[in-house]
Amino acid sequence: MAGYGYEVDFLPVGNGDKSGDAIVLRYGEPGSYKVMVVDGGTKESGQKIVDHIKEHYGTTHVDYLVNTHPDADHASGLEVVLEQLTVGEVWVHRPWEYAEEIRHWFKDGRITDESLASRLKDLLSHAYRLEELADEKGIPIFEPYAGAKIGDFYVLSPDQDWYLELVPQFNKTPEARSVSMAEAVKSFGLRVLEKMASWVDEHWHIETLSEDGETSCENESSVILYANLDGRGVLLTGDAGIQALGRACDYAEALDLDLVSSRFIQVPHHGSRNNVSPSVLDRFVGLKNTQGTAATKTAFVSASKDSEVHPRKVVTNAFLRRGADVHQTKGQSKRHSHNMPNREGWTASTPVPFHAQVEGD
Ligand SMILES: [Zn+2]
Repeated sequence: MAGYGYEVDFLPVGNGDKSGDAIVLRYGEPGSYKVMVVDGGTKESGQKIVDHIKEHYGTTHVDYLVNTHPDADHASGLEVVLEQLTVGEVWVHRPWEYAEEIRHWFKDGRITDESLASRLKDLLSHAYRLEELADEKGIPIFEPYAGAKIGDFYVLSPDQDWYLELVPQFNKTPEARSVSMAEAVKSFGLRVLEKMASWVDEHWHIETLSEDGETSCENESSVILYANLDGRGVLLTGDAGIQALGRACDYAEALDLDLVSSRFIQVPHHGSRNNVSPSVLDRFVGLKNTQGTAATKTAFVSASKDSEVHPRKVVTNAFLRRGADVHQTKGQSKRHSHNMPNREGWTASTPVPFHAQVEGD
């Protein structure tokens, strides 16, 4: 298509070691681009999104605003976008609408539909705030479940039934399993190990990434998006884990979408090693490139500037082995573009190198 192009921008999120996502993209023909925001990071990065869209996209309108999951470092910046720009459609999960359907998952028999709904609104307050803002402004709200299409993007995961199974296991919901606590203990343990500098050797042909990483149910509930833009696949993964990614691959197969031929892939969950396994990477990034030939695709990872754990070297190596050059935000904006005008002052980014040593257990 003459003139057709797209660009994806990952803006920096967070100080310290807490990572989030703030992604803006546009696609189409000059003069009629569609603009999409996928997660807004913190309030601070939300302001960066607003400025970026005005300056680089030359508009004050966002066609599609998507929240992948309700964590503050993904959702709260979207409030700033809703307050300062006009928005066509808001896409966010609203589990409080399904209190009746999911109540039986909770062990606490005294809980009513109404009290469950209000507890979910409390617990997922950043997502609920998006609904309130959209309602105030009269913007239509849709829920991103598998089967929906947001502009040219297919929602590949979660499907609605699975989502409603995940909700009762979200952090702090009553009587639910405390995944987040287990993760906190685990990540504290990992940080101690890091300080002990436990490293293991890796080579191009030796991968040490585990098959059985686990992440929180909030992360697994992340919206996974895929579009084929002018013959080039773009895959966005939020904080999805191995289960969600596997389900997305199944659904893509059913739709006859070839994820492996994607030209752009987001490394899920800021490059955490708990969210990907060799076998699931084989399905959506591609099989290992045993010849070590040049990369054929680009992967971006959103990681805070000072994070010691994002992204994991064992993960960036795994993407590299499968033919994807990895670029990390680490306090900077990163842009991937196809057939779009050059940006004054923006220079090529250096990919993460292959590491001969990775974090051990
Ligand atoms: Zn995150």
